[in-house]
Amino acid sequence: MRMRHGLPFLLVLLLLVPARAIAQDDGSSDPEAPPGETDTGSGDQSQDPGLGELDYNSPAARISRGTPLVFAVRTEAPAGSVVIRVSSSDDTDADGRLADEDGAWVDETATAGGDGLQTWTAPASSLLRRRPGHYFWQAYLQGEAADESEDPIGPVRELVVTQPMAFRGRGKLFPKFGRGGGTSFYLSSAGFPATVTGKRFRALAKETAARWGLRTLRWTSAVAGRQDGFNVAGFSSAVPDDVLGVETDYTVRGRVIERDLALNPDENWTAGPDYPALDEVDLESVLLHELGHMAGNRRHRKHCANSPMIDALGEGEWWRGSRDHWFADCSGSAHMSRAGVLAHRVIRID
Ligand SMILES: [Zn+2]
Repeated sequence: MRMRHGLPFLLVLLLLVPARAIAQDDGSSDPEAPPGETDTGSGDQSQDPGLGELDYNSPAARISRGTPLVFAVRTEAPAGSVVIRVSSSDDTDADGRLADEDGAWVDETATAGGDGLQTWTAPASSLLRRRPGHYFWQAYLQGEAADESEDPIGPVRELVVTQPMAFRGRGKLFPKFGRGGGTSFYLSSAGFPATVTGKRFRALAKETAARWGLRTLRWTSAVAGRQDGFNVAGFSSAVPDDVLGVETDYTVRGRVIERDLALNPDENWTAGPDYPALDEVDLESVLLHELGHMAGNRRHRKHCANSPMIDALGEGEWWRGSRDHWFADCSGSAHMSRAGVLAHRVIRID
């Protein structure tokens, strides 16, 4: 399976906010912002006048994909001085503003929503409405309001966008996405990356194999991707850069005598069940793909097709089911800045 990259661009694209807001360095003050007065709110060390700490009114910590999403802050700060920042990670800079190292965050200036609230409503096209996952946000003041506040940068909150149960991928994948297989395979205990535990790998391998009619066996010290008479799945440093995984059929006179699945231990894997962050590679998706080869399916579909047999997968993307998938950029190939392969090969050994 091939790897696609281009994280900062993708976050930006998918949040669908104006480019000007992207990855600007902190809340560069806005000279137009009217001066703020107001109270110090939320009860800490308030000497008046001064602006108080920002008091978040919504959203809830968890929302279901597709539901309305309004960021609302209760503040006396003047209109135009409250900015909502959303990031894919909870990294912050020295001032406490969200700022991950890839510069992949977005800023939106809130508008007055009445009742002392300033709000930003995420449009239906926003990544935040469409892609289940974990996000982080905060509000902060800009301009003179920031100068007048003792606490211009609000706390960071996590926002979990959940996938409705009915959409989660789990059923069998054949015959809809290819043929089912009957192969059993061992699990290699060698060479695990730090982010994947053996226990989780086994559970995931078992689950994904069953969806293709395959079966996992016990752990083995045999290595994945070596012709040794055993069907083995596991990690192997022999997998080339930018290739997420390789399934290999070893054949003798056209008959498959061994099938191995080797995964690249150097990728930034996540073993779920949470969806991948925007810089992580989804192990479940790659297992579903490579085990599809192990079930005897050789053909690839194009990236973005609704199939586990797509030829490439990017960071932050997944395909776990026909209604449980996310591809970052399906509008064309212009932004596939780096790529790797979802591979399948046949080695004749006769
Ligand atoms: Zn493949």
